[in-house]
Order: sequence, then C-alpha cells, then structure tokens
Amino acid sequence: MGRLIHGLAEEGSIRVMAADTTDIVAEAVRRHETSPTASAALGRVLTGTLLLGATFKDFDRLTVKIEAEGEIGGIVAEADPNGNVRGYARNPAADAPSKESGKFDVSGVVGGGMFYVIRESGFDIGLHRDPYVGSVPIVSGEIAEDFAYYLARSEQIPSAVLLGVLLQNAPPYVSAAGGVMIQMLPGAEEQVISVIEAAVSNSPHLTTSMSGGATVEDLLRISMGGIGFELLGEKETAFRCNCSHERALRLIEALGEEEVRSMLEEDGGAKLDCGFCNETYEISAGELESILASLAA
Ligand code: ZN
Repeated sequence: MGRLIHGLAEEGSIRVMAADTTDIVAEAVRRHETSPTASAALGRVLTGTLLLGATFKDFDRLTVKIEAEGEIGGIVAEADPNGNVRGYARNPAADAPSKESGKFDVSGVVGGGMFYVIRESGFDIGLHRDPYVGSVPIVSGEIAEDFAYYLARSEQIPSAVLLGVLLQNAPPYVSAAGGVMIQMLPGAEEQVISVIEAAVSNSPHLTTSMSGGATVEDLLRISMGGIGFELLGEKETAFRCNCSHERALRLIEALGEEEVRSMLEEDGGAKLDCGFCNETYEISAGELESILASLAA
C-alpha cells in the first residue's frame, strides 16, 4: 500500500501532490524481475502516473506510455481513479552502468522516443467516448523532466516534478520510492514560483528524505520552500491489476472455436501471461472443453 495526497496553495493557483510508492514499486520489481536501471525507470513512471492522475477529475483509466528508442523498448503504466496502478517495461532486463553521481542511468536505457498520455472516461455510465491522447517527444529520458515537459506543453501547466526510487541489494529491493508534483495554474505569482523552483532545486533527494523518515506531507513541505498549502484529499494506492482467471477464460473464448480446438488437441491446455503484472493463467483441458461446448451452443 502507498499514500497519495493532494492539495492547493496560494488561493488555488498552485496544485500540489505527493506520493509514497515504496510498496508499489517493490511489487512491480518483484513481479517483473526488472534490472536495477529498469526498476528505477518503471518505478518513476508508475509514481508519475499516480501523481498525474490526481490532476484530472474525470477519468476511468489514465495510461502513460513511453515508446523508447533505447534498450528498454517501452514503459507502460495505467492508473484508475481509485489509486490502483499497474505497469511494465517492455525489456525488464535493460540495464546500464550507474552514473558517476551513483544515480541510475535511466535516460541511458530510455533514450529518445515519444511520451503519451491517454485518458479514457465514460465506461461506468456505458458511454465509450473517444480517449483523450496527448503526446510530446521525450526530452530527457530521466522521466520526471518528461512528465514536466508533457504538463507544460500538452496541458499548459508549468510544473515541478520530482520522482525517486532508491534500491537495496536484498528483497524487497526497493528501500524507498516516491514523488512530488507541483503545478502552477493560471494566476500563480512569479515570486511564488521562484521560491518553489529554488526549494525544489535545493532540496535533498526525495528518497534520502524518505529514508530519514519523511512523510509525504514532509516531502511537500520541503519542496514548497515554506509556502503553506491546504490538503484536500488522501488516497490509498496499490499495484493492482484487473486480470483474473475468468478474464483469461473469456480471452480464450474470443479466439474462436478453431483456435480453442487446436489448443486442446495440440497442447492439452493453454497458458496465458498478463503483460501488466506478469501473472500466468493455466487453462486446463477440461476448461477448454467447456469453452468449446459453449461456443457450439
Ligand atoms: Zn495482470
């Protein structure tokens, strides 16, 4: 479980959010067995996606998709309005030597490419509106800067985005992960923006503060440089996928009679992997037979 908080400052002209995603990133790393650099990259994208989700009032599914030219190939994260997030890196083994500063060379495995944000809504009321899709080129590959660039360019919201993942050598491999997003809305005063920019660039790494016991509120306080804010909400968050054995059965059924019959005759069953959470579903011969029976009915 993680925590996501959001609020406002300066009479609504500044929007703030912060998240502790330590458990979420640990779960992603456990499921996908990502390399250290891929763990940092995926962890930052999962965290940024949860924070971005706090920006929008109305969505059923928010997807951040990075089409990367680097070794990692791509990173996808999907959040729902209830604080659930899931995601994967296309090549979880992608790795690069750490930088001289000791930081992961995330841009080294991401490289150039495109950054997409896809917002879908209307499912719950039976409407299927066209999704909103925004995209910008990858400008940094370090992820936080790419979220900030997306917000400034595509949503016209100049923002400060901090995303951090700190790893350790033993399970659960993630000792701290979290993020802060500060959005300057219309009416934000230049002087206030300067104070925040200075605080953000002078503040210690998020994960250093978190390792020292800082809460998500503390992370915001540090990043706001003494400017007060009012918290408006808090959400529990988790790495959670919506796949299930029943869904796997429906996917098999959708392949049609011929395909199901050949699975039964050639393999005596079927195996389905969920790309988002790496769960494997084993479908037995008996289950394939009953799918065939219902397809024939
Ligand atoms: Zn899944």
